[in-house]
This record gives sequence, structure tokens and C-alpha cells, in this order.
Amino acid sequence: MDRHERPARPATPARAARSGPAPALTFLGAAGTVTGSKFLLEGEGARLMVDCGLYQGERRWRALNWEAPPVDPASVDAVALSHAHLDHCGYLPALVRGGFAGPVHATAGTAALAAVILRDSAHLQEDEAEGARRGGWSKHDPPLPLYTVADADEAIAALRPVGDAVVRVGSAGATTVTFVPAGHILGSSSVLVEMGEASVLFSGDLGRPDHPVLRPRARPPAARTVVVESTYGDRTHPEVDPEHRVMADAIRRTIRRGGSVVVPAFAVDRTEIVLLAIADLVESGSIPDVPIWVDSPMALAALEIYRDPAHAGEVRPEALERLRRLSGLREAHSAEESMRLNTPGTPCIIVSASGMATGGRVVHHLRHLLPQARNTVLLTGYQAIGTRGRDLQEGVRELKMSGHYVPVRAEVVTLDEFSVHADADELLTWIGEMPQPPESVHVVHGEPAAARALADGIRDRFDCAVSVPRYCERVLLD
Ligand SMILES: [Zn+2]
Repeated sequence: MDRHERPARPATPARAARSGPAPALTFLGAAGTVTGSKFLLEGEGARLMVDCGLYQGERRWRALNWEAPPVDPASVDAVALSHAHLDHCGYLPALVRGGFAGPVHATAGTAALAAVILRDSAHLQEDEAEGARRGGWSKHDPPLPLYTVADADEAIAALRPVGDAVVRVGSAGATTVTFVPAGHILGSSSVLVEMGEASVLFSGDLGRPDHPVLRPRARPPAARTVVVESTYGDRTHPEVDPEHRVMADAIRRTIRRGGSVVVPAFAVDRTEIVLLAIADLVESGSIPDVPIWVDSPMALAALEIYRDPAHAGEVRPEALERLRRLSGLREAHSAEESMRLNTPGTPCIIVSASGMATGGRVVHHLRHLLPQARNTVLLTGYQAIGTRGRDLQEGVRELKMSGHYVPVRAEVVTLDEFSVHADADELLTWIGEMPQPPESVHVVHGEPAAARALADGIRDRFDCAVSVPRYCERVLLD
């Protein structure tokens, strides 16, 4: 693609004449790491937080979930969510608990999914605190949850689903928020904030051009400042194999040796994609017709939201049809049903959350299935540093779970085809599709090497200032 030429900008006398301070952007999360997305915009009489995510993965980042936030939650007027993944919305109940009392703006799909995800997260927090208390492996006495189900319900009550309309924020109403489809998970959006003369486009998480279930993302609108994710900022995805041969081979091998397959899958979106792929393999006869269990109440709830006609506008019609027709699935609802899957009697496939094995029912499946060489773990997406999924991907021989070291003898296979994140070229293409290039780009939501690599790529291709911000760094938008 041609290098962008920055067009001459018209003189803006209003900018010089403005009396108040310039709007400011502070990076409160996803700066230096992939999780904990949180950005604060201040100006024109408004304080808006874009995304309010939980830190996951490395202990040093997770510790920030427990510290007093750098911004008084009561001082924030409103939150805008790019999408419902936990690392973008999972801190909301803690923000509410800390005194935030404003609206949370999101698309209808994001609001529906966030309600499921926040409630599940609160249950996990409560269960872990209770498990730690009973097991005695916590340093804290008594171990407390980060937030409770009651906190999550308060956050859910603050959700304000918007359609295509522009939302006004702050008492002066001079700040507007617009959601632009991002094609990553249902409801996912880039978020354009216009605050006086400042305009900031947050990419959110960007999907791939050929998402098997969702309609493609929209072209990004113009903005002077861009905040772009870099999860795969240093990588190019391999071609997607429509026949899923690596997955089919792994499933066949496992069943032949009498083992079971456990698939840690992100409950939202990844479960849908993985189930469609497995259904294809069964239909084509590539794998034997073994029981397929969906063992995640959250994944089952999300599947219903994907099938809901209210969101049909976002889903590819043929995928919607197939999701509604998915048959032969067995659903594990109770904890007892879930535990029984660890001694199935016959080989089976268990799709269970969470996707990086940081929590949820997949943890007990791994604890029971990892010690036997006949079983297989299929990893289906990005595995952040410090998660059990990443440890498995890197070939550890033991994994610590609930205070015990569990030997890893099962086969571990990483599948690349299920990524729902744009790769480096696709991220650059997205910036290149803006009607005119931005003046500055801030690269976030990546491990340091990935963020630096994408920043270099942007510098090479576009004529704009590029930074990789540090945690709590503040920039002025004048
Ligand atoms: Zn995401």
C-alpha cells in the first residue's frame, strides 16, 4: 500500500482560543500487557472511561486488580465498552463497588454478553475465595472475592445498550461516543470519542476479515488520535485450513488410544467457532461420532445470545442457520455432570471454559485428564503469559492447580485457525482504511515485543507519531 501523505490541516483558530485545558488521555490498563484494558479521557467537562477490563495472567498485573484504582471511580461520568471479553469489561463490578454511579454504554450484543460474563466472573471470584478458604492455600485470611454477584448485578443494571445512535456524555454534552463494528465477537466495536477538537478512535479488539460466524468489521472512521490493539502485532496468521486437518488428526489419534479431548475455549465466540468446526468434521466423517460435551454454563448462555434473532444483523446468515441446527451436543449443566466427564467410560470431546485455563470448569478437567498420556488438550486461541494455557503451550511438565502440582503427560496441541484477533498485516490494513491518516497512534494491548513490532510497522507505513505507552502514562490531545 502507498505510504499515506498527511493532508494539510485547516487552521483552527478555535483551538487557540479555547480557554479550558486540553483533553487528556490516560492509559490505565493494557499498557505493557494484553489484559486490563482501561483508558480515561478527560476534557470538555467530561470524564469518560473506555473499557474497564480485568487483568489476567501474570501475577504482577493481576495484583493491580486489587489495588485502589489510580482514578477515583466516583469521579468518572460514564464508561463505554468496546466488547464483552473479561479483559475489557471484567473490572466494572469493582468500579461500581468503588463508587462509580454513571451509565455504561455498549452495543446491544455487548450488553447482552457482558451480563452473562460479569455474573459468571463474580461467581468464580466467590468460588475461588471460598475454595481458598477451605483449602487453606491463600495467603489472605479470610480470602475475599474481588467482587460479589451483588456487585456484578449493580454493574449490569448500569448497562445502557445503544443502537447506531451517537451517545452524548458529560454534563455539557459536548463529548460524543460512536460504536463501529469490529468483527471480533458479537457486539464488538471500535469506539470513536469526539471531545471538542480531539477525536480518539479506540480499535478495541479487531477481528479477522473472515470470521466464520460474524459479519466483517466496518471501515474505521477518521480520528486525529488512534489507540490500537497489538495482540498479534508481531505475527502473521497462517492460512486457515478449511478442513481443520491438525484438529481432526489430533482427535482421531486421541480416540484411537482411548483418550478424551479437552478444549479450553473462550466461552464467548470461540465455543461457537470450535463447535461448528467439530460439527463439520463429524459430518464429513473425518472424526468418529463421539459424544461432544459443552461444559460451560456461560458458553451455553452465550450460544443462546448468538442464536437470538435480536442480534441476527451481526451474524452471517448461513452460520446462524448452522448454530441453530447444531445437534448431538450434550450440555453439562450441573457441577456433578461436569465432574462425571472426567471418568467418561468412552472417549469424548469436552469443550469447556476458560480459554486460557485461568478458571472455570476446564481447570478440574485438566487436573484429572493431564496426568494420562492417552488424553489431549487442544488450545484454541491466544494464551497470555502467566496463564496455565501458556504454560501448557510451552511444554511444562507439571502444572500447579488449586495448590497441587499435576504432572502433564497428555498431548498438547495448539490450533492456530481459531484466532479472532487481526494479525499484524490486518491491523496495518485497518489503519490504512481510515479516510485520512491519524496524527498520532498509541499501541496498546500487546506483550511488549508485539507492541514494539506493530509500532515499527506503523512508523514505516504511515506518516504519524507512534508511541507504546506505559502504565498510567497521560498524553494531551491538543
Ligand atoms: Zn477480546
